[in-house]
Amino acid sequence: MLNTVQIKEKINQAGERLTPQRIEILKYLRSVTCHPTAEIIYTEVKKNIPTISLGTIYRNLIYLVTKGYIIQFQNNDNITCYDGNPKDHIHFICQKCNKVHDIFETPTIDKAKFDKLGIINKVEYKVFGVCTECNQ
Ligand SMILES: [Zn+2]
Ligand SMILES: [Zn+2]
Repeated sequence: MLNTVQIKEKINQAGERLTPQRIEILKYLRSVTCHPTAEIIYTEVKKNIPTISLGTIYRNLIYLVTKGYIIQFQNNDNITCYDGNPKDHIHFICQKCNKVHDIFETPTIDKAKFDKLGIINKVEYKVFGVCTECNQ
């Protein structure tokens, strides 16, 4: 997981223009493990950048996903969630409370088998179930 200093270094290496808003979104996403929605990110980032709009949040999230800084996926209710950890990992999604838990294990995919079909842009690892809290 990258801290703020590393985020800045990574940005400079890539020679990309990362606005203070993008850095703020990244900082927030890398400080939590709750896989928030854009609305939650908006509420949190607004505490530090009061003038930011929800539209700006959405645009910056798309940018960060496209550049591979963060991951975007749909939860059990098909609501888009964001993850500050772009490394391959599995999401265990509770079908009752919709909480998303990280499992740091990488199922291997034989990418060669997909060569005939086309180019892989994204691989998602999702496991659905009922968490222990909901199962009590
Ligand atoms: Zn649950
Ligand atoms: Zn995750």
